[in-house]
Amino acid sequence: MKKKFYLNPASFVSSMGKVQSLQNSVMRCTRCNSCLQSCPSYLLKPEETSSPRGRVQLLRLILEGKIKPENHTELIQKTLEGCLLCGKCSLACAGDIPVAQQVLCLSKEMGLNTVSSSFKFFWRAKEVFPKFFDFFIRFIQFLRHWKMFAVFGISKKSSFYWVRFAHRTLPAPKRSLKATLKKMALPLSCQKPDFIYLPSLEACYIEPEIGQKTLQILGSQKIHVLFQTSCGLFEYLYGEHARCLTQAKNLLTRWEKISNKKVPLVTDSWEVFAFLKNYPTLFASLPNWQKRADTFSSHIHFISDYIKPKRSTLKVKTAMDYSSLLFLPLENISFTRRILKTQAGKNLLECDYSRFPTALGGAVFARPLQTEKVLLEQVNDIAQQQIEQIYCLSGWAAFMLSATLKQQKLTTQAQHIVFLQDQHD
Ligand code: SF4
Ligand code: SF4
Repeated sequence: MKKKFYLNPASFVSSMGKVQSLQNSVMRCTRCNSCLQSCPSYLLKPEETSSPRGRVQLLRLILEGKIKPENHTELIQKTLEGCLLCGKCSLACAGDIPVAQQVLCLSKEMGLNTVSSSFKFFWRAKEVFPKFFDFFIRFIQFLRHWKMFAVFGISKKSSFYWVRFAHRTLPAPKRSLKATLKKMALPLSCQKPDFIYLPSLEACYIEPEIGQKTLQILGSQKIHVLFQTSCGLFEYLYGEHARCLTQAKNLLTRWEKISNKKVPLVTDSWEVFAFLKNYPTLFASLPNWQKRADTFSSHIHFISDYIKPKRSTLKVKTAMDYSSLLFLPLENISFTRRILKTQAGKNLLECDYSRFPTALGGAVFARPLQTEKVLLEQVNDIAQQQIEQIYCLSGWAAFMLSATLKQQKLTTQAQHIVFLQDQHD
């Protein structure tokens, strides 16, 4: 059965109608327990406050006025902050209850900061001062290269804990995608493109190979690359819904202008893909925009749609990481799964090791400690099943997993799905 989505943030902000919508999703919980075993936070800590059911029930009690949030801030904080926003519970729930989204909404209502103000400032600079953002990234790369984080004490400041986490987990950033493409004399933009490419942040700043590979997969077409374009995902996740809508409108209008409402928009970011696919729900309260968003979302593609691996002769035990906060039904990557199961061959096994999915969607910065625990459990699963190769739908997931595998001295390789093409060329 097709899963439904509840991505309309307007439903979740304070007015009566909005609360009602949240209430509807909460009321569907029958306390059946089906979600418990799929929840990594519950598996790590089998307590009701660490379970999806516990989170939904807490929200229900608040909405029904049975507990006053101001009298239970510690309990609420504990219950919300343990959630990795991975969306696994919703896949297991017969009622399609969007626990991760509910956790985000309640966090916002409670004024719980899920990311530090320094991270928000850093992110905001991407929009408002793109040149400063570029400079800042290069500055961070410089500090990192010369191991100067410690000298400045940056990573020791509590509001900069995410720098420490990123520093340990992400690979040393390389030349930016923009610079790489310029050097390769690849077109950065063109009139009347065949494709519009929305690169992930990791392709732009950390691993330009993801971007290069994406362009290679798309072939020798005319491609317009949208650098530094926000789609509103970050603002959606961290509760700035007015900005989220503005950015979504900007992107939609830009796509219409460049492509005359025809050209596919391709991304290598699973999170962005999931978010763009759900633009119509985002615009639920704006019928005109919703109509435009319907057309827009039917032109969104994840890069795996275009991967054409050859039949493999390799005998490697391979797995897929399906983690995502804004999960989509797996039929959205049915082509990719078919590749793994059939084209890439009898020799490739699709293993479900995803009891502990790699947390995504900014959760890595909001919840670094829990994310690390989950990654370690995931690595144990991988070791037990002796998996040699893992393809991730997201660059972040691949980087985090690679770093943890390395720390545990496992030789398993974790890569973004675009490298599937390479593997079997
Ligand atoms: S959230 Fe869904 S799966 Fe979990 S207890 Fe409620 S109804 Fe059952
Ligand atoms: S989103 Fe993930 S961590 Fe949060 S309750 Fe659901 S399964 Fe558990």
